[in-house]
This record gives sequence, structure tokens and C-alpha cells, in this order.
Amino acid sequence: MRVIELADTTILSGVEAWTKLEQLIQGGSWSRVAVLVDEHTRDLCLPALRLLLPSLDLIEINISSGEKNKNLLTCEQIWKTMLDNQMDRKSLLLNLGGGVIGDMGGFCASTFMRGIDFVQIPTTLLSMVDASVGSKLGIDFRGLKNIIGLFNDPDLVMIHPEFLKTLSKGELRSGYAEMLKHLLIADAESWKNFLAADNWRDNINHDTIFASVSIKKRFVEEDPLEQGVRKALNYGHTVGHAIESICLVHEDLPNLKHGEAVALGMIIANIVAREKGMLSKTDMEEINDYLLSVYKAIKIPKRFWGNILSMVLHDKKNVAGVIKMTLLTDIGDVKVNIDVSPEEIRFALSAYNALVAANKVKK
Ligand code: NAD
Repeated sequence: MRVIELADTTILSGVEAWTKLEQLIQGGSWSRVAVLVDEHTRDLCLPALRLLLPSLDLIEINISSGEKNKNLLTCEQIWKTMLDNQMDRKSLLLNLGGGVIGDMGGFCASTFMRGIDFVQIPTTLLSMVDASVGSKLGIDFRGLKNIIGLFNDPDLVMIHPEFLKTLSKGELRSGYAEMLKHLLIADAESWKNFLAADNWRDNINHDTIFASVSIKKRFVEEDPLEQGVRKALNYGHTVGHAIESICLVHEDLPNLKHGEAVALGMIIANIVAREKGMLSKTDMEEINDYLLSVYKAIKIPKRFWGNILSMVLHDKKNVAGVIKMTLLTDIGDVKVNIDVSPEEIRFALSAYNALVAANKVKK
């Protein structure tokens, strides 16, 4: 059994971990146990979960998949099913799914009857290495991502890499970006090992998933409420989030998954860091070349730069209207709260577009 202890929760994996959870439930710690699933995790992951916890009688709570359903309407549906099944304060909710199920299920559990216990069972790579650790729970509201929510911890996080076997290549690639982010901000040696692999998918296994979670744990424990060093985890996200959002609303841009947009955000952040003299040319080129070999880089036409800048200027991490970014100083090292001007972002977007064009010619 593998174990990572955090201040208020424990991350477990391995067969014994499931036996332990089953014994805890059988031991009568909870009056009722429900499992929250969407149509994909119901069909692809729930049968395996039933085999891992064979003796349990699970109440099934079904919702529809996708970010578009991470909202109050779905929460009402979840709370109603909990009430219809006589769940009380001593009940337990198992969140079986990706980041949407984890964030929303955790939010519903934390607010139902002022809070019931819950266990995160992440089934996407992104939710294993990122979303299920760090206490952030919530939903989207009025088009704003994760704007309603709270910090709270699950009783346990159960990591079971077997679930990834049914995950699409696109979703896997999206989660892989968060793994790369963890290496780039904190683990230069593993970054070199990742570069040496023939295929990026060879880098995803039980060991590397646990190593990635451990990096996130370090930052979260040092700064649980994101006042300082935890902002390192925001590397690639300032511009990445803005790209993700404009791609969602503009039909002439392709829809990007979260991690795919973060990968492009990392490329742009590296150009900013290079221009500021913080990152060497060699490191910038090594990282950006690798990201361009794994991720589909889209050109961001100039007419969208204004939208991107306005989103970046409204980022929650800014102070007094000044853009604050997390930038690399080296592979495996990072600085937070760096002032960046709109002109520097414009320059980086232009350099990024040139890089994408050159990369297409190269391919
Ligand atoms: P997701 O939850 O939407 O899952 C992606 C898709 O994969 C869904 O259609 C889902 O049904 C399907 N799926 C899940 N497991 C599967 C499996 N094993 N096999 C086949 N299909 C499967 O997306 P995600 O990338 O996991 O999470 C994104 C969400 O996570 C966003 O809402 C984001 O805000 C949130 N997030 C939260 C944190 C945090 O700290 N709380 C961090 C990062 C991201």
C-alpha cells in the first residue's frame, strides 16, 4: 500500500488500501454510503469499484458529465438524491470521476447538513495529480469558473491508476500537462528522464503519478491558503486560463482541454521569463520544443489578444491591477508574484505565434 499523509487527509493506493476502506465502511463508521458518478464513470469505472469494494451496498447518484454541468442545478439534483435516500449527517459520499465530479461532489458533501464525510476517487490523470489534492472544492456560476466554493478536505483520496485504461488520449494528454508543470517547478532530474522517453505516454505510471502528487502536496502543505509559495502551481495558468476561456466562446478557435491550454500558457510564460532575463535561452527552447512536440499549438490571432489581456488583468492573483505571474528561473525552480506588463504579454503572444508557425514548417 502506498501512503501520502497530509495535514487533514490521506492519499492511498494499492489493493490493501481498498480493503482498508471497505473495512472502515463495514465497521459502521457511516450510516449510508453513496457514490457520485457521471455517465462515463458509471459505465467504465463503477463496475471496477464494485469489485474493489465487493461487500458494499452503494446508493448511486448519477449526473451528466462535463464542465457545463458543474453548476448549482446539478448540485440541487445531488442534494435531492441524498435526501430521497435518507442520507444523514453520518453518511459518506464517494466521488468517482474526474475533477468535475471531485470538485462538485466535495462541495455538495461539505454543505449537505453542514458537512458530511467524503472520499475522492479520481479517475482522470488530471484529477489524480492535481484536482484531488489541495482542498479546493466548488462549482461554476454565471460563467465564472470555480467562483462558488470552499476549502475542505476529503477523509481519503484513493488513487487507482487502473482507471486510466479507459481514458481518452486527449484527457490523458491534458493531465500530463499538470505532471510536466510539477516537474518544471520542482524536479529537474525527473524532467530530464521524461524528455528521454520515446513516447510521452511511457512517462505515466504508478510511480510518476505518486511523485507528481508528492510535489503538489509539498506546495499545498507549505501554503494551504495560497498566500505565497503555492502560487508556484499557477505556472502556465495565467495566460493558459485565458486561452481556455476564449477557445470556449469563439467558434473559430478549437476547444482546448484544461491541460492543453496550460501547456500553451507555459510556453508563453517561458517567453516572458526569457525576455525578463530570468530564464536561459537553452532552457526556454528545451521546454518549449518538448511542449510543442506533445501539444497541438494553435495560433492565437491578434484580434483575440485584447480579450486575453482583459482576462489576464482580472486574474484573482493580481494585486492593485498589476499582472502577477509565476515564472521559471531554471528548470525545477520558480518565482511567484512577478510583475508583468500588458506589453510583455503582447510581445510573448507575438513570439508564440511565430514559434507555432515555425514549428508547423518544421513538421
Ligand atoms: P472531467 O472531470 O470533466 O473529466 C473529463 C472527462 O473524462 C469526462 O467526460 C469524464 O466523464 C470522463 N472520464 C472520467 N474518468 C474516466 C475514465 N476513467 N475513463 C473514461 N472517461 C473518464 O475533467 P478533469 O480534467 O478530470 O477535471 C477538470 C476539472 O477539474 C475542472 O472543473 C477544473 O476546474 C477542476 N480542477 C480542480 C482543481 C482543484 O484543485 N480542485 C485542480 C485542477 C482542476
